[in-house]
Amino acid sequence: MKQSFPDIIFNMYKEILAKSALNRIDKEYLPYNWDLNIYRGCSHKCQYCFAMYSHKYLESEAFFDEIYVKTNIAEVLEKKLKSRSWKKEIINIGGVTDSYQGIEAKYKLMPKVWELLIKHNNRAVMSTKSKLILRDIELIAELSRKVPVGIAATIITTNEEHRRRIEPGTGSIQDRFMMLGEMKAKTRAIVGVHMMPIIPFLTDTKENIESVFSQAKSVGADYVITSSLNLYTETRKNFFAFIQKDFPELYSNMIALFKSNEMFSQYKKGLYLRVKEARMKYNIPSYSTIFETEAEQDAKQMSLF
Ligand code: SF4
Repeated sequence: MKQSFPDIIFNMYKEILAKSALNRIDKEYLPYNWDLNIYRGCSHKCQYCFAMYSHKYLESEAFFDEIYVKTNIAEVLEKKLKSRSWKKEIINIGGVTDSYQGIEAKYKLMPKVWELLIKHNNRAVMSTKSKLILRDIELIAELSRKVPVGIAATIITTNEEHRRRIEPGTGSIQDRFMMLGEMKAKTRAIVGVHMMPIIPFLTDTKENIESVFSQAKSVGADYVITSSLNLYTETRKNFFAFIQKDFPELYSNMIALFKSNEMFSQYKKGLYLRVKEARMKYNIPSYSTIFETEAEQDAKQMSLF
């Protein structure tokens, strides 16, 4: 595919061939073991992005500005889905990149992914910050009539000014709630809000947490999950530089909080109390068991006896 003039000028997008489509991830707390990423890098530029580490293997630090496009993703995915060893496990789409970031409007890789999942009756979950996903709603509806599907939006705040600074490459929060409402109305997907991460001193107020829960409720979200902010190497450096530049008044408190394990665990106790209150007030569960296989559900039933 030919790149457009501005893309070539800034050399932002690089086409690559993927050797395989799925990465195995073994984390007990996740309901899936496989990750599918059609891009590497992400133009959404979230200042807390936990996935920056993934560019290290490409010897590049430009996670936001050097995006790799896996142009053959459909071929390698089909090969995997057709293989005799594949057990139709749940695939998480976009664990370390947003599959509906801006460039997807041009490359249109996701429709091919949904078509393959439909063809092979394969369950999938995904989270995005973009309403571009609505382009593929018919395909998602079709898949959701055959197998369980989960569509979530990551929404950490309802304050647009904060959103613009913290996630400068994304579209508006209202678009994300609107997208979830459409998904709920027009597909059978389980629809969720990922309030992850909650940022100390910025998005952790009772008002903001309640506002996210309240709007999630109003669009019919099936669940809201939350998590506090974790700062690992590359993310930590980037995040503190961002706070110093955009919210200098918070900088010293932020540094102090993340320096002390004791202070941070005290902080988390208060935070989770506010989340619990909002959850009870709006009566939204934290997690759905819809993606369990029949065997997993049987095993759970057995363990009750
Ligand atoms: S959308 Fe996800 S992968 Fe993209 S920058 Fe934001 S946190 Fe990182």
